Amino acid sequence: MHWSEMLAERVIAEYKDREELVVTGGMTTSGPAHLGTICEFLFPWVIAQQLKRKGRQVKFYFIADIFDAFDSIPAEMKEWEGELKAHLGKPLCNVPDPTGESESFGDHYLDEAKRIMDKLGVRPEIVRINEYYEQGRFDEWARLFLRKEKEVKEILERVSGRKLKNWSPLMAVCAHCGKIATTRVVWHDGERFRYVCDVDVGYTKGCGEEGESSISEHKWKLVWRLHWPAWKQIFSTCIEGAGVDHHTRGGSEDSCKQITEQIIGKKHPLSYKYGFVLLRGKKFSKSKGIGLSVRELIKIMPPQTIKYMLLRPDLEENLNVDLTPPRLLRAIEEYERASRLPEKPELIRAEEKMLEAYNLSGEREWGVAFADALVYYQLYKNWEEVKERTGEESVMSIAGYVEEWVKKGIVPEEYAFSYRPSKAEGLVAEFLNRLKAGDDALTIHNAVFDFAREKGVEPKKLFAEIYKTLLGKERGPRLGKLLVAIGVERVKRDCLRS
Ligand SMILES: [Zn+2]
Repeated sequence: MHWSEMLAERVIAEYKDREELVVTGGMTTSGPAHLGTICEFLFPWVIAQQLKRKGRQVKFYFIADIFDAFDSIPAEMKEWEGELKAHLGKPLCNVPDPTGESESFGDHYLDEAKRIMDKLGVRPEIVRINEYYEQGRFDEWARLFLRKEKEVKEILERVSGRKLKNWSPLMAVCAHCGKIATTRVVWHDGERFRYVCDVDVGYTKGCGEEGESSISEHKWKLVWRLHWPAWKQIFSTCIEGAGVDHHTRGGSEDSCKQITEQIIGKKHPLSYKYGFVLLRGKKFSKSKGIGLSVRELIKIMPPQTIKYMLLRPDLEENLNVDLTPPRLLRAIEEYERASRLPEKPELIRAEEKMLEAYNLSGEREWGVAFADALVYYQLYKNWEEVKERTGEESVMSIAGYVEEWVKKGIVPEEYAFSYRPSKAEGLVAEFLNRLKAGDDALTIHNAVFDFAREKGVEPKKLFAEIYKTLLGKERGPRLGKLLVAIGVERVKRDCLRS
């Protein structure tokens, strides 16, 4: 069973009486999406799909936490740095989008996430959490936490093992400068509160304002460790996961549970934890712009293969990816291999896992291997010709991706070539002479080894000689496939002329 199916079964067992099950997930959209970002919506979506398959009614809410403070300028926004600097510390939903494309800075990256979800076929109900605050949906929770402030604080201190100084359940939005990161609440009566805007958070400083406001004015947000358990109540969450960083001892998963049980007096919803997506051993960084953005990735990899890459490993395993072109091609090939697996009884465990992930990622639409499409496209630069030669209309479903690889110049070394035939000499000429028009790729491949053995030369050397004759370099795509793609007749004509 795939982990998502196991989790779905737990949800069903735990919430027997619920007519509609609710899966939630969320994130702060403060920078370009990376692979780890995709997990934030892909994983809950897959769980929701499993629940649907089991005949249950399901809602999946994706919560955009854009009421959080804008705390760093992404590398790709450097050209607007001067303009954006003035807004550091404000809620992301109140920072203008310098590109002018979206409603706010937070929405800019939410809109990007939406486009990626769309491409991957992930369709949640999207919630901009600032709207929920404006509509007063968090009010009763804020009042509860203020009323029980002492107990809440004790729980958080006990869980985190840290003394909380100048702490309040609320973060006020300064009426003067609009920042939420630089204020501290200094007094409240359970409804009205006073704050001072004088905190230095490193990336920005308070303006000195002293102000007063009230819960019903909605110029505040709950601190993360209270905001999270409150939203799980608001959405009636049955299950929500979080990355390993939230699941550490004393982390926010722990406090969420304690607050839910001891302050709210409810059972904590089901939870699960997932590993980091690392890029060659390092965490992705939104602000430093490390790593290939998903925006780029979805142009070069079919969506099914991206989902497969994220759904194949175990849930709690850290996924260490390497987004260099050879690795990406290998990832596509692994998905293609999974698509060819037979039915279950014949599979070994590792293959079963591949097949489960494949079934969740979406069916393969192309009959020609991606690597072969790369070979044909570079040879003919014309999809009509490629369709005709491969006999596969379906190759068009990956045509756009293949073109991107060629256009961007990211085709792995052995697949990047152009056909530059030269006159064959000696053994190469003798070998080519023996080929027949109808020979298939495997026959040709084996023939090289047989011929090398017969002549007492190293196969590797012979391969290199043949590549040199055809491509002007010593390495290339799998030779059998390459010769079939060019056409045996044509090769003979081009290389064996006298
Ligand atoms: Zn201020």
